[in-house]
Amino acid sequence: IQWEKQIRNSARIRRPGGMSVLVTGAAGFVGSHVSLALKKRGDGVVGLDNFNNYYDPSLKKARQSLLNSHGILVVEADLNNAGLLAKLFDVLAFTHVLHLAAQAGVRYAMENPNSYVHSNIAGLVALLEICKSADPQPAIVWASSSSVYGLNEKAPFSESDRTDRPASLYAATKKAGEEIAHTYNHIYGLSITGLRFFTVYGPWGRPDMAYFSFTRNILQGKTITIYRGKNGADLARDFTYIDDIVRGCLGSLDTSGESTGSGGKKWGPAPYRNFNLGNTSPVKVPTLVNILEKHLKVKAKRKIVEMPGNGDVPFTHANISLAQREFGYKPTTNLQTRLKKFVRWYLSYYGYTRKDIQ
Ligand code: NAD
Repeated sequence: IQWEKQIRNSARIRRPGGMSVLVTGAAGFVGSHVSLALKKRGDGVVGLDNFNNYYDPSLKKARQSLLNSHGILVVEADLNNAGLLAKLFDVLAFTHVLHLAAQAGVRYAMENPNSYVHSNIAGLVALLEICKSADPQPAIVWASSSSVYGLNEKAPFSESDRTDRPASLYAATKKAGEEIAHTYNHIYGLSITGLRFFTVYGPWGRPDMAYFSFTRNILQGKTITIYRGKNGADLARDFTYIDDIVRGCLGSLDTSGESTGSGGKKWGPAPYRNFNLGNTSPVKVPTLVNILEKHLKVKAKRKIVEMPGNGDVPFTHANISLAQREFGYKPTTNLQTRLKKFVRWYLSYYGYTRKDIQ
């Protein structure tokens, strides 16, 4: 009963007509930011996360504490815990689900393939099964990834481009997720939208990502390894600031249609669609390091090696016109200025003083 009360309090809707949102992966990087943004504008939020140890769980716990301090409960559970998910939906009629929980990372997949199947395939199906049976059915927005474009050579990437050459098992499970979501949409009338995020960075980020681990290693005086393509070209990423991604998630949630159920309205919900959420201006990885050096005021020790060919793609570059047209998505930031916000957060979170790093 205490548990139910906490959930109800966490999702209490403050503004008239506000949403009641279940955010999966709420203790994650993107999930924690979007949960706070939803709460701030008066929507009800309940988080769910299994706090796995893919990266430092204490960072996830710190994000959870931050969410708690804003009145957001994060339930500790796995997506595959069908009993608990069903119970959550019994307690609260969620109007929306923002599904961000996943096994991320492209290189980890080499050694841990089952983790991707467990979270990104089985976990997604478990969640959609519950949504399918929920009354009312929530509208679902979920995180796919730019990695579905794989070895696509045509840039920028548009949603209609080929996605049949994934470069990692991670990418393959995201691509499979898009097909699964599409199927639940047209068979069961679930309203589902997929968002293909492009390399997201910012405060409270993910320690396994390059900008984060470069920062850690530069500060510790360690050599950083920079990959370049087999043809000698630098890798480039369409780095996208977390605040832009948050705005994209909110825009997508706001415009996502009602689910109608298989026996629902004649025309069903809008057909399943994927939208790119990127920045549209790729930056080469060595340039990312230059920017970090400038903000950290420390020179990096660089080692440049050929990309090992186990998951990384040479470049990513988003065409965002579809998301712009459908829900006004417009990134407003660039890496030069916004990486500073990450650096400031990093130094403060890990207790550095300027003296330490000069
Ligand atoms: P993250 O790893 O920080 O967050 C994901 C969270 O999901 C983690 O806290 C993890 O504990 C939780 N989780 C994983 N498996 C779970 C399970 N089976 N049950 C319950 N919880 C589980 O990652 P993120 O960077 O915040 O990414 C959020 C989403 O966006 C993911 O789906 C990711 O694949 C996608 N994405 C991220 C990026 C990026 O650059 N950050 C790029 C493309 C796509």
